[in-house]
Amino acid sequence: MLAIQVLTTGNADVLTLRDLPTPTPGPGEALIRIEASGVNFIDTYFREGRYPAQLPYTLGQEAAGIIVALAPDVTSFKVGNRVAWCGVPGTYAQLAVAPAARLIHVPDAISSQQAAAAILQGMTAHYLAYSTYPIQRGDEVLIHAGAGGVGLLLTQMAKALGARVFTTVSNEEKAALSRAAGADETIFYTQEDFAAKVKKLSTGPGLHAVYDSVGKSTFEKSLEVLRPRGTMVLFGGSSGAVPPFDLIKLMTMGSLYVTRPTLKDYIATRADLEARANDVLDSVARGTLKLRLEHTYPLTDAAHAHRDLESRKTTGKLLLLP
Ligand code: NDP
Repeated sequence: MLAIQVLTTGNADVLTLRDLPTPTPGPGEALIRIEASGVNFIDTYFREGRYPAQLPYTLGQEAAGIIVALAPDVTSFKVGNRVAWCGVPGTYAQLAVAPAARLIHVPDAISSQQAAAAILQGMTAHYLAYSTYPIQRGDEVLIHAGAGGVGLLLTQMAKALGARVFTTVSNEEKAALSRAAGADETIFYTQEDFAAKVKKLSTGPGLHAVYDSVGKSTFEKSLEVLRPRGTMVLFGGSSGAVPPFDLIKLMTMGSLYVTRPTLKDYIATRADLEARANDVLDSVARGTLKLRLEHTYPLTDAAHAHRDLESRKTTGKLLLLP
């Protein structure tokens, strides 16, 4: 089977197409023929070595497809079931093995491309909006990279929960997409001081929460726009990692909260995974959560997808098709 591997860490050029033996499912596992694999920013962190992995490493941790073989001890799924999953490495491939405990049945109303597009970024947006800082009606929140994969979904959820939503974007096309997803105010953070603009537009003493996936270039200024006891949710570092931070600033800036969450901890139990995944997939099926499938690439073009994502050319979701 064909797979995209990292043999040595580095830029997108290190992604290597290899022909590997078909994996065999061990106890509790399923072998799945992948129909679509999601490209996520986290894949670039593993590729460049910012997150450690044992090499050679098959990239990718989000996909949907059809079960083609099962370990004898798996009773919750059948060969032929269509499933989606995330958080298990190895999805930039034609086939992958995953624990049955991490698989979710895909409803008939949803295509495999939609499921692969929704499962990781959708559950991320879901835990951020409902659990990390549970948004209340009337809250004012800021979402950085509002036209990105997570950004468009989080904006829709924040609006559905009744928030006034500010987003940051880097160009007019992205601003239009962010507004279409529900953003009340879009700010060009590459051209203007986003903190000054948010302070001007906010109706209260600052925002209830900031959802920041950009990190290095936005973190400190994001703290400035929070109201006393507001919550800073740092959930990524698309511009780079945030340097060490003096905690005393949280006191002087108004008894602020900072958290650095990751999806894994919000879907750790089967009950949490099913509740969150089914909520997201049902919302897609009902049409209340809209996906933007911006671009599909053949699996062999994974490096192209990475270059597009890292150069800020993309909006919404990117998929690899094996
Ligand atoms: P996006 O589609 O949001 O792509 C990243 C976006 O970040 C770009 O389009 C760009 O938007 C913005 N950006 C700002 N500065 C830079 C920069 N220097 N280089 C590149 N992009 C920049 O990606 P995803 O939706 O896949 O992921 C968004 C973030 O969320 C990532 O940081 C990812 O690691 C994180 N994440 C965290 C999870 C968690 O559980 N903690 C789970 C899933 C994702 P613009 O052009 O508008 O500035």
